[in-house]
Amino acid sequence: MKLAQCWDDGVVDDIRVIEILRRHGAKASFNLNLGLHLENRYAGWKYQNTKEVWKLASQELVQVYDGFLVANHSLNHPCLNKIPAAEAEREIREGKDALEQLFGYAVKGFAYPFGVHNEAIEEMIRSTGHVYARTTGVTDKVFPPANPMAFHPHCHFQDPLFWEKFERARQVDGVFYFWGHSYEIITEEQWQAFEQTIARLSAQSATWVDLPDLFEKPAGM
Ligand SMILES: [Zn+2]
Repeated sequence: MKLAQCWDDGVVDDIRVIEILRRHGAKASFNLNLGLHLENRYAGWKYQNTKEVWKLASQELVQVYDGFLVANHSLNHPCLNKIPAAEAEREIREGKDALEQLFGYAVKGFAYPFGVHNEAIEEMIRSTGHVYARTTGVTDKVFPPANPMAFHPHCHFQDPLFWEKFERARQVDGVFYFWGHSYEIITEEQWQAFEQTIARLSAQSATWVDLPDLFEKPAGM
């Protein structure tokens, strides 16, 4: 079976997630909004009114995500169905262009800000050269998706049914795919639980994959 994961919003906690992923040989992609990163780190908001969430500085992004793929999360994280179509198209296209300029490779993936999508937005994602677009919905059968522009994960990483869903994907030798935000990991116990999850996944006879590879390489490659 294959394993895939992605993380949204480009925050400082991604650094600790990446340390854990590296220790266990796990792959992941990180969905970024380049319009929201400033020269220095800043506290963007408070998660659950307790934890300050810090955005990474633009100047550290290439180093932080070295060895991992980045994907487009739009330029500035708007609700894409609440702004004029031309503006939505610009958010999608310029988000991709900015990432490609900074990271120096073709950016193929997209994750919908707030999970919001509709047919017109899906067409914008497709026509700007993305091969998949992740929603915040859930599905039992991740891959191949009925619509790559509405690519639903199995679950959020803190889903109580995480291992049940993993087991169902394992039984059919499928793809198990989860997502989250690193700032949702608050306590040391949660960090340890997350590391145990990644270690347990990596110990399976399974292969971590980069998401674009699912869409671009023939089966078996
Ligand atoms: Zn987001």
